[in-house]
Amino acid sequence: MRTHVKALVVGGGAVGASIAYHLARAGWDCTLLERDELTSGSTWHAAGLLPLFNMGYATSHIHDYSVKFYKQLEAETGLNAGFYVVGNLRMAQTRARMDEYMLYASTAETVGIPYEWMTPAQIKERWPLVRTEDLEGAIYHPTDGYINPADVTQAMAKGARQHGAEVMRRVQVDGYHWTGSAWIVSCTRMVERGGNLVPSEDSFEITAEHVVTATGNHAQRTARLLGIKIPAIPVEHQYIVTEPDPALRDYRAAGNPEHPVLRDADAKWYVREERGGWILGPYERNAPARFLYDVPESFRADLFPLDLERIEEEYMSMIHRLPSSETVGLKDDYNGPICYTPDGNPLVGPAPGLRNMWLAEGFSFGITAAGGTGYYLAQMMTEGEAEIDMASLDPKRYGDWMTTEYAARKNEEAYEHVYILHHPDEERAACRPLRTAPSYDRMKARGAQFGQVNGWERPNYFGPLDAPDSFDHDAQLPPRRLVAICGR
Ligand SMILES: Cc1cc2nc3c(=O)[nH]c(=O)nc-3n(C[C@H](O)[C@H](O)[C@H](O)COP(=O)(O)OP(=O)(O)OC[C@H]3O[C@@H](n4cnc5c(N)ncnc54)[C@H](O)[C@@H]3O)c2cc1C
Repeated sequence: MRTHVKALVVGGGAVGASIAYHLARAGWDCTLLERDELTSGSTWHAAGLLPLFNMGYATSHIHDYSVKFYKQLEAETGLNAGFYVVGNLRMAQTRARMDEYMLYASTAETVGIPYEWMTPAQIKERWPLVRTEDLEGAIYHPTDGYINPADVTQAMAKGARQHGAEVMRRVQVDGYHWTGSAWIVSCTRMVERGGNLVPSEDSFEITAEHVVTATGNHAQRTARLLGIKIPAIPVEHQYIVTEPDPALRDYRAAGNPEHPVLRDADAKWYVREERGGWILGPYERNAPARFLYDVPESFRADLFPLDLERIEEEYMSMIHRLPSSETVGLKDDYNGPICYTPDGNPLVGPAPGLRNMWLAEGFSFGITAAGGTGYYLAQMMTEGEAEIDMASLDPKRYGDWMTTEYAARKNEEAYEHVYILHHPDEERAACRPLRTAPSYDRMKARGAQFGQVNGWERPNYFGPLDAPDSFDHDAQLPPRRLVAICGR
């Protein structure tokens, strides 16, 4: 066991494994610690989708890198990560949604991500099981698909070892102390007792020049140990698996290729094939935040009970879109914690106010983001900066003003907004106003339309005095819709 390392990575999910891989590949002497088993956090139960679709520049680059990196991992490690390049069809029920996709397409072009436009007739011709008469069209990504999250994590961990990293399981980090030139990290070996994972009497220290935390659902404990705020709190996320669908089996038996990952953004779900049936993953309303202060010892690679009522609307809309799924029963269900941050972006970069401490927390698309996060974070650490602008992911965007309640409610909002039609520079309503200046009421009375910056309410512009609550939202709709509103 190494007691002095250049970099210590805490957390053996997809994200930590990728960071260890990329640091080791860059030539850094590196150890990865995992308190339980690799993938035992959120990684094991992810659906494995790798959506390239993204409105953000940094996250699009990160996802793009991951997809390319995962495709070459088997050649390097000999482990097949189970990557199915089936494509990704994102359907639109309205013109406004197509406008949103056009906005996205401009980001995709900047990053170099291939995409195609499809009409309802083209969709029907290629995938006849999909109901298309109420669609406006779709954007199609031919190069992404889905992967086995546990296998890709194990492959990255193996690659990390091949590049010289050490991977230690059943070791929990319990404290961090900065000496002025290095971190002394207190570690405890974990043991099983009565099905729980508990600390043993065996503890030791590791001295590390740099530390990266990638602790997933345990981010609140990590924040306490570091004495900082980290607004990464998980929300419940469910997906269900159906029994085999005879119509799908016939379609595949006729020699047709697998369906792409289907996304009906207006119905708020993704669907993909799974052993002759379908996986439905909805982003429904009212999914609650969990583990606001800590993950209980009894919760290991566990799940929450299914809440079918909460996803009834999305379930019915899947049946509408794929009529053959109406008669097939449910085979399996997953309801697990999925980490979020108030704006839905992960926290990647230097920990605020701490030397040589790096955060990689709050991943809601962590399987998709792991590869690229490891690559660009390793660049920041080993070269001083990444080759892309990582500012939108900087952990410093949340400061001491952030409260646990704020993070929990905002993260629930971010989850619910995954498939809401996004506008550039949108301002979201939950937990506002949080911090107001003495002039707030007077500015509001004069028509101020507020945005939030560092928790403060700040006027973005002044609108009409009698503006309805929806004024700012409506004003930010894409141009086609705006013309319709103004022309009314
Ligand atoms: C139902 C469901 C479906 C999903 N589907 C997808 C999908 O299709 N595509 C996608 O991209 N994402 C998906 N996700 C999200 C994805 O699972 C997560 O974003 C991803 O697993 C996060 O990886 P991570 O490495 O950040 O965290 P985790 O996998 O949670 O790993 C963190 C690790 O850190 C360890 N740890 C914590 N504290 C310490 C400590 N002090 N010392 C040592 N070790 C510690 C934990 O034991 C854990 O293993 C889904 C999530 C859910 C719930």
